[in-house]
Amino acid sequence: MNMAIRISDVPVFDMCPVMYYFQKIKKYIPLELIKRMNKGTLAHEKFEKEQKEIHDSLPEPEDGKPYIYLFQEQKMHDKELNLTGRADQIILKGSALNKPFDKRMFLVVDKKPRFNQSYLYQLWGYAYLSNKNEEFEKYKPFTLHTAFAYQTIDEIFPYEEHHEKKFIQKVNELRSSHAKMLEGQIPKILYTEKCANCFYRDKCSGLFKEL
Ligand code: SF4
Repeated sequence: MNMAIRISDVPVFDMCPVMYYFQKIKKYIPLELIKRMNKGTLAHEKFEKEQKEIHDSLPEPEDGKPYIYLFQEQKMHDKELNLTGRADQIILKGSALNKPFDKRMFLVVDKKPRFNQSYLYQLWGYAYLSNKNEEFEKYKPFTLHTAFAYQTIDEIFPYEEHHEKKFIQKVNELRSSHAKMLEGQIPKILYTEKCANCFYRDKCSGLFKEL
């Protein structure tokens, strides 16, 4: 069976394979990054609590009326590609009556404090898993959309076939690079503007030998 991949590892690999190498192969997480992660977890919990309160204040689903359902921290797994992930939020919009002509929409939300192109892989990954998730079969047919959120959801994007293709391609790339890293191949260091704020820059500028 293919090695299991967590969806959240895909944007790390896309951002920089060297960063992925430090995190996943060498299991090294700098203290500054741990602090930032802890801060992120607190912000996450606050967001989750607020969203639940908003959701609980909505009217109960009623026959024939539009309704919204919120899944938070939804765990998902795809056996085919052996992918796992936990989406921050999935909002199901549709009708309380699950009639075949209803158009239901799944909005997959990832909470991020700032935008980074690589995070799109995370959103596409959760959308991919939502589509494969057996528990969601009963809501089909539905359209899939994605959004980032910090305080609120600003913009909604459709999830399309070309997003899925790009996502699967990246997963395959990650899997084959991971195998090479395990054999001792270190990814090439390419200094770019993102290195300026990277917590691994000390390791990259010469400490490779010490690992
Ligand atoms: S310093 Fe640059 S090359 Fe090194 S891990 Fe960070 S982003 Fe990658």
